[in-house]
Amino acid sequence: MKIAVFVKQVPDSAAKITVENGVVNWGDAPLVINPWDEYAVEAALLLAEKHGGEVTAYSLGDESAKEALKHALAMGCAGAVLLSDPALAAADTAAVARVLAAAAQKGSAELAVFGRQAIDWDSGVTPSMAARVLGWPALSLVAAVEALDPGAKTIKVARAIEEGRQVVEGKLPAVLSIVKDFAEPRYPSFMGIRKASQAEIPTWTLADLGIPAPASAVETLELSAPLAREVSNEIITGDSPADVAAKLVDKIIGEGVL
Ligand SMILES: Cc1cc2nc3c(=O)[nH]c(=O)nc-3n(C[C@H](O)[C@H](O)[C@H](O)COP(=O)(O)OP(=O)(O)OC[C@H]3O[C@@H](n4cnc5c(N)ncnc54)[C@H](O)[C@@H]3O)c2cc1C
Repeated sequence: MKIAVFVKQVPDSAAKITVENGVVNWGDAPLVINPWDEYAVEAALLLAEKHGGEVTAYSLGDESAKEALKHALAMGCAGAVLLSDPALAAADTAAVARVLAAAAQKGSAELAVFGRQAIDWDSGVTPSMAARVLGWPALSLVAAVEALDPGAKTIKVARAIEEGRQVVEGKLPAVLSIVKDFAEPRYPSFMGIRKASQAEIPTWTLADLGIPAPASAVETLELSAPLAREVSNEIITGDSPADVAAKLVDKIIGEGVL
């Protein structure tokens, strides 16, 4: 069974992000694999280990996205492909989903595994949009794969939803987006890191994928930093903890918080 896992290169979550004149800047902070996508890679590797198969990682981006792919290779993926084309420089989610879907098809994947969301643009809909393009079932927010039968082409998963767990069944090929509960991502091994550093990562352009430049439906018009919030502090003192608590309650009620 061929498994495709999709990883995005994003600024480190500890980076100090600034926005000036509509341009996002994260200074010298490193770019890293999207943290949610480490869970996706772990899930893909566990499924391949249990049910047989091979995992290939794909990332859409510029040359720097190869670092995210190397991380996936170091974790144990068998191969990695960069998806890159100048025509995709300002692609929106619908366009990105079309490209990722085309890669899943070119790679003959039976499972396309995604993270639940990317920590930079945060739309969280790329997996479902890719499923729609492919015409495959979208099994989102997957916390566990309860059964997978590559022969019968069926999959049963538990979805983590606010109200609890929902168990659903679908047919392969399918799209999965993975949440934290699935399994803690493994650390890349020393051998894995060495192998990844020497790996040749091919690039597939739109021509290689055999698709025209997908049109964007959404255009970003403005980007600005979050509005600065005015914050003031007041230390509440009293003769005893009960006195402080009573004053705090009065304050909270007075401010209309409760
Ligand atoms: C220079 C630039 C210009 C942009 N312009 C626009 C614009 O005009 N309009 C607009 O709507 N958006 C724009 N975007 C945002 C871009 O379209 C999103 O990054 C993309 O749609 C994915 O959405 P997301 O990051 O919210 O991913 P999510 O949907 O939150 O990601 C979910 C999962 O999808 C997978 N995934 C997402 N992106 C990738 C990727 N690149 N490679 C591999 N896997 C991936 C990962 O598994 C991830 O965990 C722009 C981005 C850049 C860098």
